[in-house]
Amino acid sequence: MKKIQIAIDGPASSGKSTVAKLVAKELGYTYLDTGAMYRCVTLLALENKWSEKDLDLVLEGIDSHKIHFGASEDGGQSVFLAGRNVTHRIRENDVTNNVSWVSAFAEVREKLVEQQQEIAAQGGIIMDGRDIGTVVLPEAELKIFLIASVEERAERRYKENLAKGIPADLEKLKQEIADRDHKDSTREASPLKAAEDAIVFDTTGVPISGVVQFILEKVSEILDKEK
Ligand code: C5P
Repeated sequence: MKKIQIAIDGPASSGKSTVAKLVAKELGYTYLDTGAMYRCVTLLALENKWSEKDLDLVLEGIDSHKIHFGASEDGGQSVFLAGRNVTHRIRENDVTNNVSWVSAFAEVREKLVEQQQEIAAQGGIIMDGRDIGTVVLPEAELKIFLIASVEERAERRYKENLAKGIPADLEKLKQEIADRDHKDSTREASPLKAAEDAIVFDTTGVPISGVVQFILEKVSEILDKEK
């Protein structure tokens, strides 16, 4: 059966990765978490004490530290930076609160987008991020832009963090999410925005299963039309 490209974009904690992973499993597609790649570069910058003034070092760091994904024991996905498993480390607060300055550099984006497009070229893919429908996969057959209220997103992140053993404060999370959205949407290079041909879906109050179902129906419609 023909395999398509699916782009899932949206602001922080809008449910993109949870939904994308489930759709990928259902369809047997590759899932690529592009946010994890920006997080890996941020971790590299933090560990080396690089700041916004050290763009050259950050770019060299990307070239010398391969990011790759592998299956984890619980059936999920593990993230590796130069062979080191950083799956949990990249979700910690210092990485989350620094990722926006790293991802604002057009040069950083260019390198990561190239890697993302290479992975997509291998077949059926579902990718989540901020610029997938607009920049990484402009020809994707299905583009979904997920949104949800800041309150609901903060609550989701709060529960996720507690479950992962990461300390969390709900009010602070609301502030951090709003702040990250603002930085991601107002940056010059590939800002967070829905592609013109994306379907905007407000997931406030909608269970994950409802969003997954919606996407699977859209995929079937597209594949039916191609028959
Ligand atoms: O999706 P996640 O919250 O893990 O993404 C972390 C950060 O990486 C975002 O806040 C954004 O700054 C950056 N990002 C991006 N473009 C993408 C994916 C993530 O700029 N495609």
